[in-house]
Amino acid sequence: MYNVNSNVPAEFISHSEILETLKYAEQNKGNIFVIDSIIAKARLKKGISHREAAVLLECEISEKNAEIFALASKIKREIYGDRIVIFAPLYLSNYCVNSCLYCPYHVQNKIMPRIRLSQEQIRSEVAALQEMGHKRLALEMGEDPVNNPIDYLLESIETVYGVKHKNGDIRRVNVNIAATEEDDYRKLRNAGIGTYILFQETYHSESYKSLHPKGPKSNYDYHTSAMDRAMRAGIDDVGLGVLFGLELYRYEFAGLLMHAEHLEAAFGVGPHTISVPRIKDAGGINARDFGGISDEVFAKLVACIRIAVPYTGMIVSTRESVACRERVLELGISQISGGSNTNVGGYASNESDTSQFYIDDTRTLDEIVDWLIGLKYVPSFCTACYREGRTGERFMKLSKSGRISDRCSLNALITLKEYAEDYASRSTKRHAEELIQRELSDKAVLVDYLKRVENGDRDIRF
Ligand code: SAM
Ligand code: SF4
Repeated sequence: MYNVNSNVPAEFISHSEILETLKYAEQNKGNIFVIDSIIAKARLKKGISHREAAVLLECEISEKNAEIFALASKIKREIYGDRIVIFAPLYLSNYCVNSCLYCPYHVQNKIMPRIRLSQEQIRSEVAALQEMGHKRLALEMGEDPVNNPIDYLLESIETVYGVKHKNGDIRRVNVNIAATEEDDYRKLRNAGIGTYILFQETYHSESYKSLHPKGPKSNYDYHTSAMDRAMRAGIDDVGLGVLFGLELYRYEFAGLLMHAEHLEAAFGVGPHTISVPRIKDAGGINARDFGGISDEVFAKLVACIRIAVPYTGMIVSTRESVACRERVLELGISQISGGSNTNVGGYASNESDTSQFYIDDTRTLDEIVDWLIGLKYVPSFCTACYREGRTGERFMKLSKSGRISDRCSLNALITLKEYAEDYASRSTKRHAEELIQRELSDKAVLVDYLKRVENGDRDIRF
């Protein structure tokens, strides 16, 4: 049950510490000695503190900014190689009892039709996603204890994992639902979810209160302490995020890193991913009514997050334009959504506008895969870490030691090969095969694996 009256304060997000941090950053934004020493520390790829990162974000010396961007790209390449993991959101229900001012699913919206997918409709959605070639989904829904109870979600997860359409299967189901109780998180863990994702929206408690006037989500402390409950319930991989554009981005940046530091200190492992959504137009929602941030600031935020938490995956969605996505891929993004539809039931049929927000990158998954190959990335549909139990602390240890990297390159190529065989258009298939050949020329050991895949050995787990 929802214990929305819980008032356990989320003390790890300290307003006064954030204000001090912003002051420190402002004082040092032109201090070349301080900036150089922070960059030197960041080069060790062990991360930097929220205060240090805030100085880099604020830095106004242009040659140092060039160094910061170059360092973010270097860290990205060294830790994640050329791999870009691909996923899609799946909207289950837009029923919601909350009143978030930026979201069209808010309870006062009487114009938007409300839809909750039946299990049969979910099967159709998943089949449509599998037809595209997706292996990894993020389930999304509004908060409504009556229409979207936890049992509905648990049943839906089972349905999603159960769909085997042609050669398709969904191998990792991430979940993005409102803050809930430890018991519910335990049920989600037992249902085999990958990452539990919850965006903070804003770390500024006063703004949070005005943006969320009513409903269970209006409780800032309950929302902010959700990841603690999820981790206590045994969910190893949690995904943080801020809805950029609601509040001062500097404030959010410091809050986000403090949250990551808190999880690392309390549970020995930081967030598995950080998402960087920006507010978008939607039915009845005008993004310009909120603050917004420029593409340049957005790029700097991504670069500074990459430097501050090198081993945390970073996600950018189809909210962003093609050009913007290309820029931030270079600076730190390791996962992107593709071929997305933000309507409830939008993959199999598109009868009414129930879109949570309008997307900018409307290309098909095939176009995105081909685009990534053209940019010299390796699109990856791999889910092996999760399937082999390499999550949480175990994943971080392997990742930090560099031992996971070779396996990841291998798996990325295998899953790309699988995608090319089963789903790609003729030209994407040709480009994928050329890329695989290029990569193989110095990795003879991969040949054997790929042969096994070609021969239909589907016991190989990726
Ligand atoms: N309802 C749950 C919640 O609010 O935590 C689950 C996630 S909701 C389906 C997904 C996310 O979409 C929200 O956390 C919010 O950050 C984002 N979102 C809502 N309205 C948006 C808008 N107009 N533009 C961009 N993102 C938006
Ligand atoms: Fe509901 Fe989530 Fe939208 Fe808020 S952001 S109105 S909780 S769906």
